[in-house]
Amino acid sequence: MSGILTGKKIVIMGVANKRSLAYGCFQALAEQGAEIILTYQNPRMLKSLNRFVDADVTKVECDVSDPENVKTTFEAIHEQVGHIDGIVHAIAYADPEDLQGETTDASLASFNKAQSISVYSLIAVAKYGRQIMNDGGSIVTLTYMGSERAIPNYNVMGIAKAGLEASVRYLARDLASQDIRVNAISAGAVKTLAVTGVKDYSKLIDLSNERAVNGVGVTIQEVGNTAAFLMSDLSIGIVGDTIYVDKGTHLI
Ligand code: NAD
Repeated sequence: MSGILTGKKIVIMGVANKRSLAYGCFQALAEQGAEIILTYQNPRMLKSLNRFVDADVTKVECDVSDPENVKTTFEAIHEQVGHIDGIVHAIAYADPEDLQGETTDASLASFNKAQSISVYSLIAVAKYGRQIMNDGGSIVTLTYMGSERAIPNYNVMGIAKAGLEASVRYLARDLASQDIRVNAISAGAVKTLAVTGVKDYSKLIDLSNERAVNGVGVTIQEVGNTAAFLMSDLSIGIVGDTIYVDKGTHLI
């Protein structure tokens, strides 16, 4: 199947390197004909992107820790490419000291930081993204089953993912007035930069892979293909949902 995103302009937020889930989305969406606009956190990330992403792909800086940056980013995107048809939000952060030990170790400041970057950023992205989005658009975020299960060391990020999934439902209700759909993909564990912040992350990945129904973990391409489907008109019946793309890990 190809060309399901031909003519659509889609913003992807969160490509750090070739291992990023967002990079799997970039490849899958581009393969389906989408014009991609990338946002990156800071100039260091841009340097990384420039090593493996074509110079003709539009790239705009966006550190989501300040909602004002999100506003100016979408204004800049509008100026450069006009209206958009979708956004993939693949951003999360918690201080590494909160991704170990017990949940009660977390301070209010670091808890708030994880919520702000990993949850509120989706709300800010929806707020400013919808202003430049065509009717019939689609927003997708990335979550993990640590929202529902007490995964070792995942702690504040699990709490953030629960908030993120609830945000998806409320945003889906609110953005329906503009015919914009909001959904989440709950991906299986993949070794990315973000995951290496979790203490004993290799155990987390091994456990996740072992529990995949065929013992083989999900790939960023498989996650990306689902993102492409959710960005496309083929998925217009899916609203406010969290779709597992984890090779069945959540079943076992
Ligand atoms: P990654 O490290 O490749 O991507 C994380 C991205 O978040 C990076 O591009 C980073 O620049 C960005 N980011 C962090 N703080 C930011 C800020 N203040 N402003 C702008 N961008 C910021 O890791 P990944 O695993 O691909 O993570 C992408 C998403 O997928 C995250 O939401 C993560 O929780 C989720 N996820 C990952 C897994 C996994 O096992 N890797 C599983 C399920 C869900």
